[in-house]
Formats: sequence, C-alpha cells, structure tokens
Amino acid sequence: MKRVLITGAAGFLGSHLCDRFIKEGYYVIAMDNLLTGDLRNIEHLFPLKNFEYYHHDVTKFVHVPGSLDYILHFASPASPIDYLKMPIQTLKVGALGTHNLLGLAKAKNSRILVASTSEVYGDPLIHPQSEDYWGNVNPVGPRGVYDEAKRFLEAITMAYHNFHGVETRIVRIFNTYGPRMRVDDGRALPAFFSQAIRGEGITIFGDGSQTRSFCYVDDLVEGIYRLLMSDYHLPVNIGNPDEISIKEFGEEIISLVENPTAHLTFHPLPEDDPKVRKPDITKAREILNWEPKVSRAEGLIKTLNYFLEKVKVPTE
Ligand code: NAD
Repeated sequence: MKRVLITGAAGFLGSHLCDRFIKEGYYVIAMDNLLTGDLRNIEHLFPLKNFEYYHHDVTKFVHVPGSLDYILHFASPASPIDYLKMPIQTLKVGALGTHNLLGLAKAKNSRILVASTSEVYGDPLIHPQSEDYWGNVNPVGPRGVYDEAKRFLEAITMAYHNFHGVETRIVRIFNTYGPRMRVDDGRALPAFFSQAIRGEGITIFGDGSQTRSFCYVDDLVEGIYRLLMSDYHLPVNIGNPDEISIKEFGEEIISLVENPTAHLTFHPLPEDDPKVRKPDITKAREILNWEPKVSRAEGLIKTLNYFLEKVKVPTE
C-alpha cells in the first residue's frame, strides 16, 4: 500500500485531500498542530486502519517512521485574519516547515507537492495571471508575511529540486471554497454566507468592483491529484477562471440564501487588497488535461447546505 503524508490535514483543503487519498486506497498519515484546523474535519477517518494522525508542529523537526511515497505540504494559516493574527507562525511554516518537509522528502526519497497560492502574484499588473508572471508583492505590507512565505516556499522547493534532485511539485491555488471552510475565517465567501443566513449586512470592501474567481474544492483536489501524478516540476495554477466582482458575488449569495433582511454594506478597502484575481489555466489544461467541472451555481448550492448547518442564527 502506498503511503502519503499530508500536513495541514485537519484544515479545509488538507481534510479533503485525506478523503481523496483514502478513496484511492492509500495509507494516509495526517499531520497538524490544530493552529487553524479542526479535528472534526477528519474524525470520520480515525476508525480506518489505513489512517493515522500525528499532532505535530511542522516548523519543528519532522519524523515519520517507515517509507513515504508522497508528501503534500498544506500546513499554513491561509486566510487574512489568521495570518495577520499569526504573522510569525505564518512565516515559519512557509519557511522552516517547508524546509523540514523537503528534508524529509530527500531522506525518504518521496515526491513532494507544496501548496503555494495566487497571492504570490500580489496585486497583479497583468490579467489573468499566468505562471510566468513574477508578481507585484509588497514585502513589508501586512499581507507580506503570507505572500513572501509562499514565495520562499517556492524558491526553496526549486532549490531542493535543482540541487538535491528531489521530485517536487508546486501548485498555485486560487480562492477555493466548499464544505469544511471555517465560518469565521474572514474570507469573503464564508462571511457572505453567514451574514446572509443571519439576515445581516454583507460586508463589501470598497465599491465591490474588485474581482475574485472561486473554485469548488472537488475540482481543486482533482487538479492537485493530477499534478502530483504528473512529471511537471514548475508551478501550475489551479483555480476556476470564472471571474466575478465582489459586489455581484454578494448579490448572488443574497438571492441564493433568500433571507429578505440581508443586504449589502460598504466598508473601506483593507491595505493591499488585490484588485483583480483570475487564473490563466492554460498550463493545467495542457499538462494535466484538467479544468474545473463544477459551476459556481452548483458549488454554491452544495456549500449553502453546509453553512446552513453551521451558522447559528440568533433567536429573539
Ligand atoms: P486551513 O487553515 O483550513 O488549513 C491549514 C491547516 O494547517 C490547519 O489545519 C492548521 O492547523 C495547519 N497548520 C498551520 N500551521 C501548522 C504547523 N506549523 N504545523 C502543523 N500544522 C499547521 O487552510 P486551507 O484553506 O485548508 O489552506 C491549506 C493550504 O492551502 C495552505 O497552505 C494555504 O496557504 C493554501 N491555499 C489555500 C487557498 C484556499 O483558497 N483555501 C488558496 C491558496 C492557498
């Protein structure tokens, strides 16, 4: 049985990856320190014989007994409120954590895939963003702790590939959504859903003309799986190019939730908020024969059911 180590396994994306590798018949070793994750995301896997969980901070030396075929490094605070609250941990997990896992991959002769992000493009000056764009990141701005940690993650991953010959894969993930997102993680989609379900004002920053492109989690997981199995070591964008302005998106959520008291409210733009975001997925199409299959309408309905269960509506 092939063995895979997944870091950040109790988080949103990590837990879906655990499910996928279990489904594919792997022995899954899940690792997390629960900084932003939740064991409830993976508790259904605990009874399985081919699943084990290590509570461990990957910025410390990582030891796993036995062989490892694959490593997926997904540990990192990922939403702005998390990494603004935990700037040092964010930098450490991108830098020291990635270094530790690359060292483990070298020692175990495993293939490693690391989770990078569209944030490496910063506030982009080209649109849509393709992998050969180097980005427009402010290293000393508030988001620099996340963006630069991920840029370092890519750089050290390439160094281990070029210098040590480690088999590496780099995925640049664009905004992804679906069940198991944290209701209060501060990202637009969970915030909009919870505010609409509670019948409150939906927080739009600026005039809402900034754009985002949302990918349903099942599509992302498929793209990551294909990238891991490919022989391509340079970064690949995985995301859904269906772009929408934040204002229109807020309106879409309101009409989906059908709560008559929900409405849009406008607030000042946070510093360094990217104005546009849309992946160019030509590379993923050509190399992985991948493209997203789940439309936003379909993905949002599946996600609405999850949020309806999670969001507590205050009773009078
Ligand atoms: P998440 O917060 O739900 O999951 C991250 C997990 O990493 C959590 O379970 C957390 O406890 C764990 N973690 C953090 N620091 C750790 C450490 N030092 N040691 C061990 N575990 C640690 O976030 P997510 O949305 O699932 O993101 C997962 C990965 O994907 C992150 O690396 C993130 O940067 C990347 N990513 C996500 C998105 C997205 O849209 N969700 C977009 C781009 C990139």
